[in-house]
Amino acid sequence: MKKFALVTGGSRGIGRAICIKLASLQYHILINYKGNLKEAETTAAACRTYGVEVELLKFDVSKPEEINQVLGEWILREDKKSIIEILVNNAGIRQDNLMVFMNDAQWSQVIDTSLQGMYHVTKQVLNPMLLNRFGRIINMVSLSGIKGMPGQVNYSAAKAGMIGATKALAQEVAKRNITVNAVAPGFIASDMTADLDEKELNNLIPMKRFGKPEEVASLVAYLASKDASYITGQVISINGGLYS
Ligand code: NAP
Repeated sequence: MKKFALVTGGSRGIGRAICIKLASLQYHILINYKGNLKEAETTAAACRTYGVEVELLKFDVSKPEEINQVLGEWILREDKKSIIEILVNNAGIRQDNLMVFMNDAQWSQVIDTSLQGMYHVTKQVLNPMLLNRFGRIINMVSLSGIKGMPGQVNYSAAKAGMIGATKALAQEVAKRNITVNAVAPGFIASDMTADLDEKELNNLIPMKRFGKPEEVASLVAYLASKDASYITGQVISINGGLYS
């Protein structure tokens, strides 16, 4: 059976770096993206340089019917030929606002993308993984979900929800050799943080710089590897020493 890694939000930023890193480790890659085909193709081309198979799966993780249609059909079609051994629930968005000014759409879009998206995508992948008796699930959370960040009540709630789900699911599936962990970045240079004042924020970070997507990808690759077989239900921070 061909072994695939599925990375949601693999077209840009941290997700792209994870796709490339896992391709370099000879995993075939499923790149999920929401709408940015050009960026997804750039990621795919970089992955293919490692000689692996790459497929683009366009679906909005906040829309269960799209997940069922696109991912569900891929899993049915590839039954007995391919298996998703690694799932990285990475797709996420920010819609920052103080709670007092937050509208319902800002609340629900952020929750629907990170938390609901993780639930619906993982539901598709989990049963085949259980039958395969091996798997790695890595959920991209955030420092914001650990300590809470003012102006991000929606985002902190979504990421904290993912942390709870990570810990619970890890205990449900541990005996089938499936590990479930969360990675909690601090500030990482990507489109998501492009509007932030990097110079100002660097003062808060002991390492005095934002992290690189490739640094997060290395941690994900370790958690996805056989070397990390006894690590499960954990939240691993990667934040240059930023107090959490
Ligand atoms: P980014 O550069 O903004 O990229 C976001 C990615 O998610 C894109 O590939 C985008 O696809 C995809 N995406 C967004 N909404 C989606 C949806 N509804 N369905 C499917 N894909 C969707 O973000 P990033 O900085 O790489 O962040 C990746 C993850 O790390 C997120 O979960 C974020 O919360 C988390 N994180 C980031 C930081 C940071 O400092 N950057 C810190 C902590 C945690 P398209 O290209 O198609 O739009």
